[in-house]
Amino acid sequence: MEQMIMCEVNSCKFNKEGVRCGAPKIHVAPHKGRADSSDETDCKTYEHV
Ligand code: SF4
Repeated sequence: MEQMIMCEVNSCKFNKEGVRCGAPKIHVAPHKGRADSSDETDCKTYEHV
């Protein structure tokens, strides 16, 4: 089943219309091996436009 990934990072080359991700897959990781909140996670698939 295809997923819809909502993302507002409009400086990323995979972003579509400032509201969603168009990458075929994404890699998300914690800043330092462990995350205790969403603020401590990052999309590693990000690429600047
Ligand atoms: S690759 Fe990551 S940062 Fe880029 S649009 Fe997709 S979810 Fe957002």
